[in-house]
Amino acid sequence: MFKLPDLPYAYGALEPHIDEQTMRLHHDKHHATYVDNLNKALENQPDFQNLSLEELLQSLDKLPEEIRTKVRNHGGGHYNHTMFWQIMGPQKSGEPQGDLAGALNKSFGDLSTFKEQFTQASLGIFGSGWAWVVKEGDHLKITATPNQDSPIMEPVSPGVSRGGGKAPILGLDVWEHAYYLKYQNKRAEYIESWWKVVNWEEVARRLGV
Ligand code: MN
Repeated sequence: MFKLPDLPYAYGALEPHIDEQTMRLHHDKHHATYVDNLNKALENQPDFQNLSLEELLQSLDKLPEEIRTKVRNHGGGHYNHTMFWQIMGPQKSGEPQGDLAGALNKSFGDLSTFKEQFTQASLGIFGSGWAWVVKEGDHLKITATPNQDSPIMEPVSPGVSRGGGKAPILGLDVWEHAYYLKYQNKRAEYIESWWKVVNWEEVARRLGV
């Protein structure tokens, strides 16, 4: 059985950038529902109950057809949101430092170009989805997925091991439920505020630097 993880900070900790009411609904209702529905999908599937969330999402094509889409949507939702809470934080966010800044500079030229490209990718998502920074081998790239799809569902490129494979190190939820209460239709304002609560130490940890 998968469990809803607690937020690693108080619901109001990201104020004023992300408001408390949005965090409560987003965590206690939306994320909780993904966890519940993932557990329901696996209820009568003993062969798949011992797999980790990552293993499930990396082997969707091997799952029985009747649960494949449910695991994709609800398992993806559980995985993506668990990461999302962690890569935000109430600390004074500032800018990426040290080796993380070096890796971003190497892949994108400089930090402002990185932020601009990530922002454009986030704005360009039609409907619900996520923007990502993905590590593949020693490259970082910006991608986007629809719905609750995650980069870890995607096969890695030939010659790249899964261990050093396609792993998201930063993700931004642009479903309207992530911002509509405070920002209504103004996704650009939400993204601008979100940069102020990114926990760059956690992003660096995920990159392995
Ligand atoms: Mn969400």
